[in-house]
This record gives sequence, C-alpha cells and structure tokens, in this order.
Amino acid sequence: MMRSLREWLDGAARVLASSPEFSEDSGASPRREAEFLLCHALGLTREALVTRARESLPPDAEGELNALLARRAGGEPLAYLAGKREFYGRMFAVSPATLIPRPETEHLVDAARVLSGMPGVSAADMPFPGRLKDALARAPLFPDAEVRFLDLGTGSGCIALTLAAECPCWKGMAVDISEKALDMARINAKALNAADRVNFLHADFTAADFAERLPEEFRSPCLIVSNPPYVGEEEYAGLERGVREFEPKCALVPGPSGLEHPRAVVALAERLLPSGGLLLMEHGAGQGEAARGLCGTAWSLALTGKDYAGLDRYLLAIRGQVRERNIPAAANPCGDTGQEVTTHEPASGI
Ligand code: GLN
Repeated sequence: MMRSLREWLDGAARVLASSPEFSEDSGASPRREAEFLLCHALGLTREALVTRARESLPPDAEGELNALLARRAGGEPLAYLAGKREFYGRMFAVSPATLIPRPETEHLVDAARVLSGMPGVSAADMPFPGRLKDALARAPLFPDAEVRFLDLGTGSGCIALTLAAECPCWKGMAVDISEKALDMARINAKALNAADRVNFLHADFTAADFAERLPEEFRSPCLIVSNPPYVGEEEYAGLERGVREFEPKCALVPGPSGLEHPRAVVALAERLLPSGGLLLMEHGAGQGEAARGLCGTAWSLALTGKDYAGLDRYLLAIRGQVRERNIPAAANPCGDTGQEVTTHEPASGI
C-alpha cells in the first residue's frame, strides 16, 4: 500500500524528533523540517503540500526522501541538504565548502547601506552614537555614488553580492582562499545578475603580498567588509555538532585565539582605506572590546554593533587621524552599544 505525503511526514517527524539533533532545547522543529524536506524533494510550496497531503508519495521520490531524512537526522544542516539558504531576502547557493549565511551577518549590509545614505534603512534604528547619526543625516559617508568595496573571506558571496544587488552603482572585489567557495560565489553572482559588478580573487588576505595582488581599482576602496573566521579553538570545541561536523573549519577558526584573522583584516583595512573609509567586520559575541582594541590611532571611530540577540557582533570603524584617545566610559556617547576611541572629527566630517 502506497504511503500518502502526510504519512511520510508523520513518520519523518518522528524519526527527526528522536534523533540527538532535535533535543528539546535545540529550537528546531521536526515537523517543519520534515515538511521542508518533502517540499524540497517534490518541488512543492508549503501551500501545495497542505492541499495535496492525502496524495500518494511518488514511488521514485521515496528513496531520495529517506536519504535526505537520514542525513538530517545525522545532523547535516538543512541548508546543505537543500543546497541553498536565504540571506537578506535573496537565495544563495551553498555547499560544504562555504559557511551557511547567518542572519546576524545581515547587520553588516544594513550598516553599509545606512552609512552610504541608501534609502530603506534608517540610521535611527542603528546602534550608532548620536554624533554619527547627526553627521549621517547631513551627508552620507561616501559622497561618490561609485563606491569600490572589498569583501575579505567572501564564502558564498552573500555580503558582496547583496551589496551589489542593493546598491547598483557599487563595484566589489570578493576574496577567498578557497577555490571551491569562490565557485559557489560565482554561481550566486550569475544568479543575482551581479557578475559584472563583483569580481573574484583567489587569494589569502593574510599574506604579506596580498595588497599587491589587488587590481589598481581596488587598492584604495572606500569600504571593506568582512566576516572572517573568528572562532577560537576552545570555543569551536563547544559549538553545535552540525556546525563542527559539516561547516568548513577554515571558515570558522583562524587560530587558537580566534582573533588572528580579525587582526589581519583591521591591519589591511588600515593600510588600504583612505581617510573617511569604512570598515565593517563581523566578530564573535565576546570579541567586541578586543575588536575595537585592534583599532589604533589610525582610526577616528571604532564602535561595536549588536546583533538581533543583543550580542556584540560587528566592528564599525572609520579611518582617520586621531588626536584624543581612550575617552572614559562616562563620556562614551555609544552607551553600552559601543565605545569610541576618539572624540576627534575625521576628514569625512563624522
Ligand atoms: N557565526 C558563526 C558561528 O558562530 C561563525 C562565523 C565566523 O567565524 N565567521 O558559527
């Protein structure tokens, strides 16, 4: 007797519920994930699934479905099973060579859009100090529409390609040490019609000669974005099994402390950004202070942005000259959302 879609779903939800991946505190819903797998394998929308739940499962689909179910029950992330994940409202192809885009990383895109004066996101909603918000209300950070940006450690390309899709006059150079990750990013660039505005470079951005490998056009970009590997070895050992076993370790762990690549990103940004240039770099929830501390006297502003969970998540730093440093916490206009390293007005007027 042939099984109906609903019968397969009921059974699949039971299999998932009893697997270690779906312990009570994991937050994952076995039923929803079973539905996702069924929709993915049969090419159905969720609405179609509801109306067709009593229909028989196509016999040739059952083997594939059961294989997907076994992989999910074994802890493989849904995004790898589906080969895609949504980021900032667009679908990105992913593979085990790329990190799965996280919602927290969308804050970098928001910040870049706000600071460049793009419509749609209000500076009022951003965790910026009042002085930065006032300055932004007067003029965006980048006076030229033709922004050139670098994305260091692009992975699936989600940051660079989203910026290119959101900001049609921008041109980016996306860098990764993994050729396989760049293959995915190139696929995504084509799918999002951004291949003519985002170039890709296979390189190690921590290498001493990295800057020389950049084409002239990108040697002095006004924006550098990066979601570098930032998980320390010890923290890595405590991450979810699905992350440790399936996501690329080289995209997560730069070295024992986790700060090795963030340090290289800040050093490179210090070298390449012109005065008034912007660095947006994601980091770990416990790295806010350390990340700001990487910014020395060459920076006019260094503050920490929070993520949806209210955790320290990214460094926002503006290149400039500094006269005054280490203002006391009481005088810190960012409150607990960040700390400025200076009260100096940089060349950009912020
Ligand atoms: N946010 C990722 C995690 O905690 C880490 C991403 C990164 O190292 N860039 O799993």
